[in-house]
Amino acid sequence: MDKILLSAKNVSSCYSGREALHNVSAELKGGRITAIIGPNGSGKSTFLKTLIGIVPKKEGEIFSEGRNTDGMSAPEIARRIAYLPQMKSVPDLTVRTMVLHGRFSHLSYPRRYRKEDMEAVERAMETVGISEYAEKNVSSLSGGTVQLVFLAMALAQNSSVILMDEPTSFLDISHQLNLMKLCGSLAAEGKAVTAVLHDIPLALKYADDIIVLSGGKAVASGTASQVYKSGILNAVFNAEIKEAASESGIIYYCQ
Ligand code: ADP
Ligand code: MG
Repeated sequence: MDKILLSAKNVSSCYSGREALHNVSAELKGGRITAIIGPNGSGKSTFLKTLIGIVPKKEGEIFSEGRNTDGMSAPEIARRIAYLPQMKSVPDLTVRTMVLHGRFSHLSYPRRYRKEDMEAVERAMETVGISEYAEKNVSSLSGGTVQLVFLAMALAQNSSVILMDEPTSFLDISHQLNLMKLCGSLAAEGKAVTAVLHDIPLALKYADDIIVLSGGKAVASGTASQVYKSGILNAVFNAEIKEAASESGIIYYCQ
């Protein structure tokens, strides 16, 4: 059994009194890629933000490796859970300096980087394939490469859970596939790799588990094949999603 690294139990949250997430329960397991899918405005970003406490929860409980996250400090949560937001402002920093920011939660004030911090940074840049840009200013890079810099920063955090909000946006198809393969190797290291994905066929093909949100509620969850077979996706997305056999196994497409 894959270990549950992060779980939400009956979690609700709201913006200015208006509920955006209603009674959501979910489990994110180590060794697996979990995709969060749902129409625009269904609460996907809110769900990730609630898990790490950027959006405070109104009800329910969140457990990180069995421990309630209530009362955990922000650095402690960051050492356990890395988060890549959907909207990112591009900083005026070199790639290496930015990736180094992923180490903040491991340092006490005043910040002094240790050898292990520098090593974690080099390793993270190498893993996502951006070492050659280490000295470049982030603002000079293409949108797809910037996305990888954010991912490297999250990896440098060395957490067992990674939450990514639409990491494939701005990536062309070959970089999207590379990213999904990279997610696979991170999961193989035992991490709980979690991504909001808007490409349903991509999610069905690459994710082990899927959580479907609609109107702020988790309307389905299970393995990709269970969720596909339940037929709920057609209703939720108002589209016909189909599967077909291919040389590389089952593929999915929308009609
Ligand atoms: P998704 O990521 O699935 O597109 P969101 O989680 O961003 O959806 O939004 C869920 C709901 O919460 C939407 O109705 C959205 O308008 C609302 N919402 C999101 N962020 C805010 C905010 N900062 N203030 C007020 N309402 C928000
Ligand atoms: Mg969103």
